[in-house]
Amino acid sequence: MSPAACAFQGNDDELVRHLLGRPPRLPYVVATRCPAGTPQVLRADPVFWEDGRWKPFPTVYWLVCPRLKKSVARLEQEGGSRMFTQRLHDEPGFREAYLAGQRELIAWRLGEARRLAGDQLPADAERVLAEANIAGSRDLLGVKCLHAHLAHALAGGRNPIGEAVRDRIGPCRADPPCVAPQEGGNRA
Ligand SMILES: [Zn+2]
Repeated sequence: MSPAACAFQGNDDELVRHLLGRPPRLPYVVATRCPAGTPQVLRADPVFWEDGRWKPFPTVYWLVCPRLKKSVARLEQEGGSRMFTQRLHDEPGFREAYLAGQRELIAWRLGEARRLAGDQLPADAERVLAEANIAGSRDLLGVKCLHAHLAHALAGGRNPIGEAVRDRIGPCRADPPCVAPQEGGNRA
């Protein structure tokens, strides 16, 4: 098959490697796809086994769509992170909804980690998973990386920051696709 013919069907692993610019470090599932069918958000396990122990991976959701990544980067350059930090500070309703969503995420993440690691989950890993927000920060109200918030919202999590980012930058589109067929690597 020519690369163009099968660019958007099948080999997610190859495409994900291309989108990340390296092999994925952790096992993942494709949580959402762009309109052209390419992986948009990846979900990784909240813990991974390395050097003989379980280590925490609090960010869970990864935005890999190049178009959305670029739009979010632009929003960050325009002061988006600071703007959302300010909104969390100024708007009690927004803050409560955001914190409720983060608590849901934390509960899910801890449950999943305990399911995977059982009684081998180290206390320090458990602490990270119990405290960090979706962007990996222990300061729940300090907004730095908007990519993680958007990825969380796109994957169906309750995240008013991610939802506001999504509304602001709009969806990806199929035409032109966000990943050119020839970018997907050698698919022979
Ligand atoms: Zn896309």
